[in-house]
Amino acid sequence: MGALGDLREYVREIGELHGATALAAWDQRTHMPDKGAEARAKVLGRLERMAFERTISDRMGELLARAEAEAQGASVVDQALVREWKRRYTRYKAVPPDFYQKFVETCTRAEVVWEKAKAASDFPMFRPHLAEVVDMVRELARFIGYKDSPYNALVEEFEPGMTADKLRQVLGGLREELVPFLKELTDRGRPPEPLPPGKFPVESQRALCREALQAIGYDFAAGRLDDSVHPFTIGIGPGDTRVTNRYREDDPLPALFGALHEGGHALYDQGIAPELAWSGLDGGASFGIHESQSRFWENQIGRSLAFWRFFRSKVVRRFRSLAKLTAEDFWRAANHAQPGFIRVDADEVTYNLHICLRFELELDLIEGRLKVEDLPEQWNRAMKDYLGIVPPDDRRGVLQDVHWSGGSFGYFPSYTLGNLYAAQFTHAAIQDIPEFWDLAISSNFTPILSWLREKIHRHGRVYLPEDLARAVTGQGLSPRPFLQYVKEKYRAVYDLA
Ligand code: ZN
Repeated sequence: MGALGDLREYVREIGELHGATALAAWDQRTHMPDKGAEARAKVLGRLERMAFERTISDRMGELLARAEAEAQGASVVDQALVREWKRRYTRYKAVPPDFYQKFVETCTRAEVVWEKAKAASDFPMFRPHLAEVVDMVRELARFIGYKDSPYNALVEEFEPGMTADKLRQVLGGLREELVPFLKELTDRGRPPEPLPPGKFPVESQRALCREALQAIGYDFAAGRLDDSVHPFTIGIGPGDTRVTNRYREDDPLPALFGALHEGGHALYDQGIAPELAWSGLDGGASFGIHESQSRFWENQIGRSLAFWRFFRSKVVRRFRSLAKLTAEDFWRAANHAQPGFIRVDADEVTYNLHICLRFELELDLIEGRLKVEDLPEQWNRAMKDYLGIVPPDDRRGVLQDVHWSGGSFGYFPSYTLGNLYAAQFTHAAIQDIPEFWDLAISSNFTPILSWLREKIHRHGRVYLPEDLARAVTGQGLSPRPFLQYVKEKYRAVYDLA
């Protein structure tokens, strides 16, 4: 076997360890009893450390050096294999394994406390844990090394090639267009009617979500749907990509869009070419590209009039109190631009403003301009500035998201990148499939899913995010298609067209 084959064999074990880690993490967030938390933190720390040590081992260094020579003139996949593992090797070589293991343990513990603190709306309970996580993340950035800002070392983990400067530019530009647009809608538009109030049993909502997942092509023989505090998708290995969701008894829409969102992530994973299994290329091109797939199904499809033309009857069959509503009524209700406290419930006009706020705060934390103890106050100030509202408690403010407790600084911008890429991909798909919306109305998503599989899913992490976007749409990251799409749709919903 040549060097490339040796490398492939060597990284397989890392992939399998990640599979075990993922299963333990999935269980932690869905079924684990409270008292199992401390032991689970140890187990996760140990597993992560084993994978980590293998990633930065001297053996890996030798294999990469040999494989690099062999990769010249090899297949695109083999070249990507070397590129991706060299990236991880170089990035983490400077991080001591003891530090890394402690970091994983600290985050696992912090996440458990966050869940309790959020339920009790008790920021002081969470504060020391978050402070410890922030300190360790800043130290991590120092170990990895960076140019200009420690944030650049962190965001690279989620979006290769992205920087704080570029994000400031993209997010700032969006804010400049979206704040006045929101004002145009609220001042001059006719706001949509919300769904009539009612009680929507969780059991029926779960069944409806299963139907939605089936409609878009999620393979239940290769996955499952469970409950969790914060919805997520997790790949355990080939043939096992799981989604979770949460439910509100007074409104069936958040769970439905949660299911479509996580379903979009899962379709990406389920569509990765089998020959990439266990290679390290069997994931999304980046978190932003991954998010584009969840946004595609949640927003571009799920919040379209075409979707509601066929999905209305499925909702009404389970919830008779909504029988009077037309497809247009559902579509309008699903596209209500309204400043709210909760990011995951936000509409497409205000959503990116939630991201601007988180990006600016986390940049300040990482660059050392903001102390954790001042975070709730600064959060509320930014909410007032961008959305004109102040959360009544920290549960609906600074404690609402899991990311920081898990040490995922630099993650939030992926959501906005996903919104932008989703609009770019939809634009390209409509060019390639002129009957796109007719297919959606007849709930025949197979040709659309096939297009995504062919253009995006099957490649996994073989291409870098900007290169993939360029190959699929003819250009790199651009906010234009998103702004055009969101303005066109919301003007139609608000009778401003
Ligand atoms: Zn997502």
